[in-house]
This record gives sequence, C-alpha cells and structure tokens, in this order.
Amino acid sequence: MRKSLISISLVLAANSAMAVTTIDVNFVVPEGIANTQGREALFAGLRANLSQVDEFYLSKYTGLTKGGQPEDLKFNLRQIVVIADRTTDIGCRSRFVYLGSVLFADHQVDGRVGIQSAESELSRDYSCLSPEVVNTIQKAGYSSGADFWVQIVPQAVMEGWASGIAHPPMDIQLPVMDGSQDGLYVETGTLAHEIHHLLGGVDLYDKPESDQCFSGGPWELRLMCGVKVANPNLYGTTQYADEKLNMQRLFNNEDTTLSDWTFNGTWQGGSYYIKASGAALMTVPSTGNRMASLQLSGGALSQREPTIILSVTVKGADQYDKPVAVEVYTKGVTAKAGDHYIDDVTNTVTFDPSNPDYSVTPEGNWVKELKLTAKNLDFTGDKTMQVGLRGGNATNVDQTITNITVTGTSAPTPPVTPPVNPPVNPPVNPPVNPPVTPPVDPENSVEGGGGGGSSSPLVVLGLAAVAWFRRKTQ
Ligand SMILES: [Zn+2]
Repeated sequence: MRKSLISISLVLAANSAMAVTTIDVNFVVPEGIANTQGREALFAGLRANLSQVDEFYLSKYTGLTKGGQPEDLKFNLRQIVVIADRTTDIGCRSRFVYLGSVLFADHQVDGRVGIQSAESELSRDYSCLSPEVVNTIQKAGYSSGADFWVQIVPQAVMEGWASGIAHPPMDIQLPVMDGSQDGLYVETGTLAHEIHHLLGGVDLYDKPESDQCFSGGPWELRLMCGVKVANPNLYGTTQYADEKLNMQRLFNNEDTTLSDWTFNGTWQGGSYYIKASGAALMTVPSTGNRMASLQLSGGALSQREPTIILSVTVKGADQYDKPVAVEVYTKGVTAKAGDHYIDDVTNTVTFDPSNPDYSVTPEGNWVKELKLTAKNLDFTGDKTMQVGLRGGNATNVDQTITNITVTGTSAPTPPVTPPVNPPVNPPVNPPVNPPVTPPVDPENSVEGGGGGGSSSPLVVLGLAAVAWFRRKTQ
C-alpha cells in the first residue's frame, strides 16, 4: 500500500462547478525560527502563504483541464512540523537536507525504478539530521501523507546563492522572512516557482536567452523567470520545456517513457517520479471515525488563575496503529500573543501509538495536555483571545473556537476629583490683628450674632473653593 504513488484527491468547490485537485504540503520549521517569529503568527502566516500559491495554479494560467473542463490546483497545508535546530547546525547548514530521502528510506515513498536512477535521487545523505529529527519526519509522513515538503530555513543558510531550492520529487527549501509587516513568512512567488520545479519546470532566468525574461521579451512574467505575481503569462513553451503540456501530462497520470520527459534534448528533472501518480507522491491516511476535540479547564486568565489546561482528546484513536496529529492554535483578538499570554501553545500535537507519550482514558481516548499561561497582565479591564483546533491529520477535527477572557490587574483610571485642599492657601497665621469687631449696632446685631460675621476669612475661603470647583467641573 505504501508503494502506491497515487494520491490525487478531487474536491468539488462548494457551490461551484469548478473542479479542484488538491496537493498536500507540509512545512518543516526549526524550533528557533518558530520561537523567534512567534508561533501563533508563524503558523497562521504559513497557512496564508500557501493559500496564496493557489493563485499561480489556476486553470486559466496553467491551462489544466480534466474531462474537458478547467481544473485548478489547490495546495493544502497538512501539517507544520517543528523540528530541533539541529538542521541548522554545521553539517546541515551548508547543504540541502533531503526529507524525501528520509521518507524513502522509511519505505513511505518510492521512486520510479529504472528511469534516470530515480532511486538514487531519493537515496541522498541525510546523516546530518539527528535521529530525533528523522523520527519526527517519519511520524509526520505517516500522519500527513503530504506530497511536497517545504523546509523553512534561516536566511543565513541561503544567503548569496539562491532565493529558494527545489529538489524533486518532493523537497523545497525556503528562507524565512520576517512576517511582522504583512504576516507572510516566505516569498509566495518563490514558493510557487519552486513548486513548479517539482512539477517539471525548468529555470529560465539562468539561460543564455534570459534577457527574454525582461522588457517585453517573450518570456516576460514567466514563473520560471522569477516573477513574483500571478499573471496570464506564467507558463508557456521555450526550447527548454513545454510547461503547460508537462503539467497536463502529470495530471493525466500518463505512463510515459524517458524520452517523453525530455524536451528538445533537455531533461525535465523530477517529472519522472510523478509519472503514473498524478501530481502527488504520498497517500493521505483516512480520518476514519476519529475525532479530535479540545477541552479547557477554564474560560478566563487572570492574576488569580494565570493558567488554563488545554486537553487535546482524540476519540476513537485506539482503532488506528499509526500516528495522528492535529494543530492547536491561539489567536489574539484584543489580547496579544507574547504580550498578554505566552506564545507557546500553537503547535502540531502528535499522538504516536508506537511511542505513547499521552494518557488514555477508560473509554480508550488519547489525551495530551498543554498549558495556556497568562503573561503581562499590567493593563486595565478585559482583553480577549481564542483557542481552537485545525489541520487534522488522520483524524476529523471539532473546529469549535473558544473565547478566553484575559483580565488585567491595573486599577481603573480614577475619575477627575476635586483636590482635597482648596487651591488657595489659607493664611498660616491668623491675621495679626483680630478682625475688627463691628461696632455694636442694635439694628444689625441679630444677623451678625456669634461674632464671626459673614466676612470672616474661613467663610471667604470656603466660597472661593466652591467657585474654583465649579470652574473645574464645567
Ligand atoms: Zn528555479
């Protein structure tokens, strides 16, 4: 079963007659990049990146048809695999890491034996990967069945010689961009270009005629010239490749010969793996009747309760003997990841029955727990964030989104109050001279009784304070 190369799934877009063929993609990210960029933003950004690649593979550009009808390609993110930073160490840093070879050695993919030493292309050295990383990739292979694997690497790994690398049949390496501006973490046009290499595309920007890529030349705006935006001239024919014919052939699963993959004497690398397989290499595992869901120990983060336990439960998982994976994610609404809560929740959670590091309920459900932890609560009032599950691999997913309130610890800003003391300072000392006692006037004696009189200093000051207060509160 694992030898099968056939893995095209057809999805009819809802409420549309337009047919879509889905190609499954995994991203592989070193831990250091995930933490530096922020997991919540990076995971969401890579999803957005990949969905933008779809724009480059619309039938109106590729010319792809199925049964005489236009057929779009859609790239489906199966899994974001976070691996140890070992791959960026010396040994792996200076060269390509062949994840396809890891899967080939594990008998999860196969080459087409007998054509252009296909097997040797998948038998490359990956010894610079640690056993731990190799195991992670193998598990991700079983749970995802992804066809194309995109490794995100530090800029320094690529600097100076390439904006991306494709190694047919299934490996792509791209440098990370800082997503803080537009939320994207790889150059989308470059990803589309590298994917076309996996579909048989040949670089045009490095050919002797590469000036045809520019200024009104016949190759202008071609994807293999390096254009970054989708446009009607992405694909065409050169002496090096008939790009549209090539993709149509792959799509048709034509069992072609070596010479069929050679165009005007130029070998179109990579295509031969995919012959008889459509555009895909691996088989997506069935989701069966498994269902992943998320349970929370509470609905609010505060100084008193700074942690919520998130339990990822897979129901019915014990009927399956291969790894199951699902993505837990956070999404800040008014609360911000990394500021108001620790940005360590978003991740692909894998349940591997061959190495069960999860608990099993009496009903046979598999459970893993994560902690959502408050961070800086030095603000006033409530903020909101969300948690949920997405990206089920070998399982269905309950996609309920749960809102969480994050309560700040700062006291509310006090309303404007009048000063405790009136602004006019009373004389520290009583006047040297006692108030002049008005002459006793029998006609006024009743009103002026008590000796203080209406013009005594304290009464005057009190009136001044009332007047001041009225001015301030207008
Ligand atoms: Zn290229």
